[in-house]
Amino acid sequence: TSKSSGRNRFNYFTPAMQDHAQKRIMLIQDLKVAIIQHQFELYYQPIVDVNNKQVTKAEALIRWRHPTMGLIPPADFISIAEDTGMIIDIGNWVFYQACKQAAQWKTQFNCDVQISINKSPVEFRNESTDIEGWLKHMSQLALPTKNICIEITENLLFNIEPNVEAKLLAYRKAGMQMSLDDFGTGYSSLPYLKKFSVNYLKIDQCFVNNLAAGSNDLCLCEAMIVMAHKLGMKVIAEGVETENQRRLLTLVGCDYAQGYLFSHALCRDDFEQQYLMATQEHKRISNSQLLT
Ligand code: C2E
Ligand code: MG
Ligand code: MG
Ligand code: MG
Repeated sequence: TSKSSGRNRFNYFTPAMQDHAQKRIMLIQDLKVAIIQHQFELYYQPIVDVNNKQVTKAEALIRWRHPTMGLIPPADFISIAEDTGMIIDIGNWVFYQACKQAAQWKTQFNCDVQISINKSPVEFRNESTDIEGWLKHMSQLALPTKNICIEITENLLFNIEPNVEAKLLAYRKAGMQMSLDDFGTGYSSLPYLKKFSVNYLKIDQCFVNNLAAGSNDLCLCEAMIVMAHKLGMKVIAEGVETENQRRLLTLVGCDYAQGYLFSHALCRDDFEQQYLMATQEHKRISNSQLLT
């Protein structure tokens, strides 16, 4: 049997798997080059205040502009970046880029857009995450720390290590905002919400997809919103695609919504054109009205 299982084991490595492994190795090589050559771009998805329809927040979502394969979504390379440790360099780039962008929007359009960035648990567990350096960078840009929001997932809080906890506290102490992303899909973070206050709870899109009046999903959304509010958090619903979903979420007290109903993630130019230039124009109009 050892012979046959040996042969079986050999057979497990199918041509399809070899293909997959080769693709992965190529992707790792390309990703190393991408970091050196800055082939990444941040796209910005507006987060809408459901009560006044204003956009004062945006989530930065990374894309990789590959020289031959085009625009690659994060789902295709973040886990490889995590496994290889390259997420540290990528995460630093995202942080600096988001700060630079928020500072530029502040000076150019005179508006405080709060940009949220996604941080992988791997980044928190790594020793070289340089919070001091980040804070120094923000003060050099004259960017208020509250203009940056860090999105973490529940899984980071599960069995939290002391050094990770220290980093979270350092962010909070510095005045950076925090969101709990994909809420309701990870390991339960409820015990940790006793200790850690985050500013925003993001209801995962799996609760939003099939929202209907009287549905279990709507009950769950309402319960999450009530809990969040009692703990002093605001709620952002993710993946809002229909007017009916928006209406039901508003009905049960949701504060912010994000999704294709409002907008996809936009490149910087499009975001400026659709959300910031209009604001500036509006301000200019109201200023000139004041003058006359
Ligand atoms: P996430 O943080 O939960 O981001 C929301 C994802 O849902 C984004 O996908 C967004 O484009 C998508 N989305 C937004 N509205 C809708 C909608 O109405 N319907 C549907 N079906 N989807 C919607 P994206 O940009 O592909 O990002 C996927 C995930 O990749 C993110 O999920 C986040 O976990 C990760 N990610 C993105 N950027 C970064 C980054 O800079 N660093 C790290 N570590 N992870 C990132
Ligand atoms: Mg997110
Ligand atoms: Mg999410
Ligand atoms: Mg998600």
